[in-house]
Amino acid sequence: QGLLEGRYAIVTGAASARGLGKATAKLFADHGATIAILDLDANAAKAAAADLGEDHVGFACDVTDKTACASVASELKARWGRIDVLVNNAGITQPLKLMEIEPQNYEAVLDVNLRGTLYMSQAVIPGMREVGSGSIVNLSSVSAQRGGGIFGGPHYSAAKAGILGLTKAMARELAPSGVRVNAICPGFIATDITAGKLTDEMRAQVLAGIPMGRAGEASDVAGCALFLASDLSAYCTGTEVDVNGGSLI
Ligand code: NAD
Repeated sequence: QGLLEGRYAIVTGAASARGLGKATAKLFADHGATIAILDLDANAAKAAAADLGEDHVGFACDVTDKTACASVASELKARWGRIDVLVNNAGITQPLKLMEIEPQNYEAVLDVNLRGTLYMSQAVIPGMREVGSGSIVNLSSVSAQRGGGIFGGPHYSAAKAGILGLTKAMARELAPSGVRVNAICPGFIATDITAGKLTDEMRAQVLAGIPMGRAGEASDVAGCALFLASDLSAYCTGTEVDVNGGSLI
């Protein structure tokens, strides 16, 4: 018996082949969930959904567009009758230093990571409240906790730290209606966001800061998302779970 048998789940930014969203969607589907993959490109989203099996669907949805989020959520609610799980995974990063950040950089990074998390959540919350249950999982980052990492600039840290505040505020407000909200803080995970961007020297430096001595895999994050999405975490809300190989010890 899967942990998400009969559940309906949305994963944003899940078309990227090596990404955390795709791995999460795959693990959820393996545990019995029906999945909607949302991403910028409709064909990529549909192809990623088809990879999971025939019941799953893919849609174009730019999470910075509040109307698009509402419209895809209402289409899914009409199709499925309910939405049980939302994983706010869509995110972008830009490796800029503090003084290099221009207004358009700040806007773009805050828009996708922070605004997108709010808009997509607002789109599913009324339906979750109606049925009296639901789990929302937000992707933050170790960059929020450490004030930066090797990939994201200060604006990325700010956006991901904003997600932690938003997670707690949402969790507090939604707890009485049975909806749980939690965040994951991944450390250094091997995906397209990190691929090919490190020199050997940078890589050695990053690994030296990870007590477990290895980069994380997308499946490490997916496992944590499964825990937070399922009833295994029924009494957890407003938490942040580190998936970082011990980077903050
Ligand atoms: P990725 O780049 O592989 O995937 C991100 C996906 O988001 C892409 O498919 C992209 O098309 C999509 N996307 C971008 N803008 C969008 C928008 N406006 N609307 C909808 N979709 C959009 O990234 P990843 O490494 O899988 O990261 C997933 C999440 O985890 C992100 O939020 C990222 O910040 C976070 N994270 C990643 C790491 C890491 O080491 N990889 C570490 C900490 C946090």
